[in-house]
Amino acid sequence: MPVTTRFAPSPTGRLHVGNIRTALHNWLLARQAGGAFWLRIDDTDEARSEERFVAAIRADLGWLGLVPDGEERQSARLPLYEEPFQRLRAAGRLYPCYESAQELDLRRKVLLGRGLPPLYDRAALALSEAERAEKEAQGIAPHWRFLLDHAEPIGWDDGVRGPQLFDAAQLSDPVVRRADGSWLYALPSVIDDIGMGITDVLRGEDHVSNTAVQLQMFTALRARPPRFAHEALLVGAEGKLAKRLGSLGCDALREGGIEPEALLALLARIGTSQPVEPIASREALAQAFDLAHLGRAPARFDQAELSRLNAAILHQLPHAQVAHRLPEGMGAAAWEAIRPNLATLTDAADWWRIVTGPVEQREFDQEERAFLGLAAERLVWGEDPWGALTAELKAATGRKGKALFLPLRQALTGRDSGPDMPALLPLIGADEARARLVRAARS
Ligand code: GLU
Repeated sequence: MPVTTRFAPSPTGRLHVGNIRTALHNWLLARQAGGAFWLRIDDTDEARSEERFVAAIRADLGWLGLVPDGEERQSARLPLYEEPFQRLRAAGRLYPCYESAQELDLRRKVLLGRGLPPLYDRAALALSEAERAEKEAQGIAPHWRFLLDHAEPIGWDDGVRGPQLFDAAQLSDPVVRRADGSWLYALPSVIDDIGMGITDVLRGEDHVSNTAVQLQMFTALRARPPRFAHEALLVGAEGKLAKRLGSLGCDALREGGIEPEALLALLARIGTSQPVEPIASREALAQAFDLAHLGRAPARFDQAELSRLNAAILHQLPHAQVAHRLPEGMGAAAWEAIRPNLATLTDAADWWRIVTGPVEQREFDQEERAFLGLAAERLVWGEDPWGALTAELKAATGRKGKALFLPLRQALTGRDSGPDMPALLPLIGADEARARLVRAARS
């Protein structure tokens, strides 16, 4: 079976870096195996799901370049859940329950108060036909629980965590359907994973106990379960589960000048045994991806590391990839001269302005003015105007090092530092360069 993965967000909010990491790892897993990556919108919770979040999820994946090979959404698949539901019911694996939320809550508290695990006591399973009929006659519609088989051992070889074992008797029979007929997440997810041919479920470790009950659902539906892997959660650089991370999403990062490639390069590698490297190619990340590299300790997300990676990635990006985001007229030579100075792409406009001018020059003292006047006279335009000019001035004045280069840079660019002058000067051009030197000499 070709590897098929899915990213299954609930559209109840924007994606944050933790979700993005899960999406990326699913994408990488599929790409590496030449398989397919699906987006599944888990929108069974009608009250909390919003269309604007569905749109935002798609847009974010688009910006990241993690384009799914297909998309499904649970609200469009509701009819598909009925037959398996009836089948499980007929097989005695689903049973109706009539307790109210308050009742259940009270029972949980009593158990916890006694120091016992708050497991559901299966009281509804013991109801007789007549007792059920009475509840229904009172107008109480049932919600439905999945009957875990306490005799069936639950185990899987987790792609990240290794062998996992659960005792079904230590788990509550999960509610799968509410009294109003709406679905909770667990069963539709299994039905979809079967229907969509999902071979690998890779998700956060907060889903480990869901996997335990879902494995029995796969078996009860006579389907072969996918491989499961649960990755450790993402935490802030300080090691704590930073609240900020739960809201840090694509918009904020994009506004902060972060390139999607930088975010992906970081999220592909943090929490793994592989080094974080400025790898701008998604395909290269995919080739090197291996679940076995994922560690069990929480992955640390450090924004300073992201900024460093962002700069390193920008410094490699070819002009063609960024041209549409650069100021009008800024060609490949200018991009290559300027990119080593960038922390974010928006800085390119500032540096481009030192090419196009006007530049703001500081005041020069008399000696410097004389030196810059000489520079204006001696400027000749050949293959390497900067090399020629500085050699000429060095010979003529005996200046060297900073005394030679800095006043020239300041006069020509209005700044103390910046792109390499040999690359920059040809971009400024002979007439404009001479004009700037003359202006500085007269200041
Ligand atoms: N909708 C679930 C979530 O967002 C999906 C979990 C899964 O990948 O199965 O947590």
